[in-house]
Amino acid sequence: MIRSTAFENRDTNVVNKFLLISIDCWRYDALSRTNPLFNTPKFDLLTQEFSLAEKFFVSAPATRPSHTSYFTGLYPFEHGVYGQTYLKMFEDIPNLFQIFSDAGYHITGRSERPEVFRFLDFEPFITSIDPNAQAQHLGSLEALIQHLKQPSNIPQFCFLHFWYTHGGYGMSGIPDAPSLKWLVDNGRTDEALRFYYAAATHILEFKLVEILKQLKLPEWAVFIFGDHGEGICEELIDHGSTLNQNVLHVPLLAHIPHVRDLEFPDAPLSAIDLFPTILNLAGMDVDYQGYGQNLLSSSEIDKDRLVLSELDSLYGIGFLSKNNLEMPHHRVTSRTTVDNVEINKYSEGVRLWSLTDGEYLYREDEETGEFVYRHVLNGEELTCEDPDRFRDAYDDLLVNSNYQHLQVQESTTEETKILEGKLRNLGYIE
Ligand SMILES: [Zn+2]
Repeated sequence: MIRSTAFENRDTNVVNKFLLISIDCWRYDALSRTNPLFNTPKFDLLTQEFSLAEKFFVSAPATRPSHTSYFTGLYPFEHGVYGQTYLKMFEDIPNLFQIFSDAGYHITGRSERPEVFRFLDFEPFITSIDPNAQAQHLGSLEALIQHLKQPSNIPQFCFLHFWYTHGGYGMSGIPDAPSLKWLVDNGRTDEALRFYYAAATHILEFKLVEILKQLKLPEWAVFIFGDHGEGICEELIDHGSTLNQNVLHVPLLAHIPHVRDLEFPDAPLSAIDLFPTILNLAGMDVDYQGYGQNLLSSSEIDKDRLVLSELDSLYGIGFLSKNNLEMPHHRVTSRTTVDNVEINKYSEGVRLWSLTDGEYLYREDEETGEFVYRHVLNGEELTCEDPDRFRDAYDDLLVNSNYQHLQVQESTTEETKILEGKLRNLGYIE
């Protein structure tokens, strides 16, 4: 699959140190550049040369499908992790960890919640931030920072995942800590947001600062992003149950060696764009035929592009159960079966999809056809004059995907039925 590696490429602009930092639940307004309430002077200084993508969207509102898209450049319907509780990916999909590992890179994958990646192809590459800590948020960063400081000539691919910003926001154990849902329901959303913002501030202003200041940044391509945001609004408090603008719109901060004042295109950008961007920077020629675009070739990105997000909660949204985490790998016999028996369905499960042009978001329920149309930044509900524009664009993405052969690989009867119905409506099959 890989036809050349960074070692063979003599182009001096080739980058061979990559740091990807994922902050769980990091939504667009949890950053000083977008929110004057944010007080992160050290982080702001360290990242002042970083560029912010203002129209950047995740492919899914949950940790597992979203990270799988970041690492494969594919939408959930293409990589198979349609929702949080789909157990595995479709087979034989290249992911960044494996590609860089095969190319001889020194790999670091550390998470404050590594078990959330269980059964995914890249699981073996991701361990705890501090293996000696019982509670990861109480752990030390020292060993990790030492690990990142390899000699200059060693190519590196690093992924760090911070979980402290996930539901709870460090409030558990505090006597009389309020429920954020109660605060929002009682018109005190600003107060609820302060707890969430405080957790994000801690990660940016302490953990990221301590890590970034010890690296020789001119050598590193750094991408800092959310895997999804967080609702903290009337529609939802957390993230997994619907496609909401607060959940899908996240910051992407990027720093590329040799590139000053990187300007992101005005088109909407997607998490799937990181895969081709990173491989391109590394000078690697990987056979990638997904919808992701190289962010450094902004003139080639269609400004009328619409980017997709998907939610499938047919098997629930609570992957992190003891049952799943302690199950041996061999018992997972497919994406949705354990010991060849289908896992339990979730009675409130839904399948939703949304498309955005960066300014407005269109969301539709795949089973009922109900839709909403909203402004991304202020959440205002609008009348959608032409839902067919979005339905057609969605159908185009499905039928033109170069990864349809993977769906046939291992679809449940229900998935096959939905896909066939769609293709039949479009006249592709009788
Ligand atoms: Zn997450």
